[in-house]
Amino acid sequence: MNKTEEVFNKIADKIIDNKQYLTKLDSAIGDGDHGINMARGFSEVKEEFESAEFDSNSAVVKKVAMTLISNVGGASGPLYGTAFLQASKVMEEDLSLKNAVKIGEAVIEGIKMRGKAEQGDKTMLDAIIPAVNALKEDYEAGVELEEALQDCLEAAEEGKESTIPLVAKKGRASYLGERSKGHQDPGATSSYMIIETIIKEII
Ligand code: ADP
Ligand code: MG
Ligand code: MG
Repeated sequence: MNKTEEVFNKIADKIIDNKQYLTKLDSAIGDGDHGINMARGFSEVKEEFESAEFDSNSAVVKKVAMTLISNVGGASGPLYGTAFLQASKVMEEDLSLKNAVKIGEAVIEGIKMRGKAEQGDKTMLDAIIPAVNALKEDYEAGVELEEALQDCLEAAEEGKESTIPLVAKKGRASYLGERSKGHQDPGATSSYMIIETIIKEII
């Protein structure tokens, strides 16, 4: 198993362990299936890894993308699928901060292209955009990779929490209007968990 497979195995475990928590968050402002959707997709990823062999890191990420697109019901499947697919296209075999920024930008572009959401709409983008911005600022300031990843993690966590007071503008939660206030967005929470797992596996 290569390093990227190991990272995605850890992500799968994290999502599966948090299936109930993510579902509880989605029960408050959606239809209560985010944990179920994500755990189903990532269980399938783990199964795919058992039989597949990959010749590159980007092939692993592409497989994850395709598996999520075809196995996760709900809005989050195609969104995460597109995100990982775009990431796989720009990913280099050796990790650098420069490439991490490029991957992050491709992820954001993919999610925006599919879901037409912006920062502040109370979606997964509210965790991901600040995380990528932190990486970008650190790259431009010449900060070392490890420190930049720490900053990225902090920004993702703050971004996830920033969704609590927001009114949802996209997805099912938007049907609630003002009543979506006061709840953390489930997709921003799963995005934080994915970012957290990737970063903790690298540093
Ligand atoms: P569904 O809403 O179809 O049941 P999930 O519950 O699995 O799908 O996923 C809900 C999450 O998807 C939300 O919490 C939000 O973060 C994210 N989401 C929904 N619509 C969009 C969108 N247009 N752009 C980005 N993220 C979105
Ligand atoms: Mg849902
Ligand atoms: Mg649903």
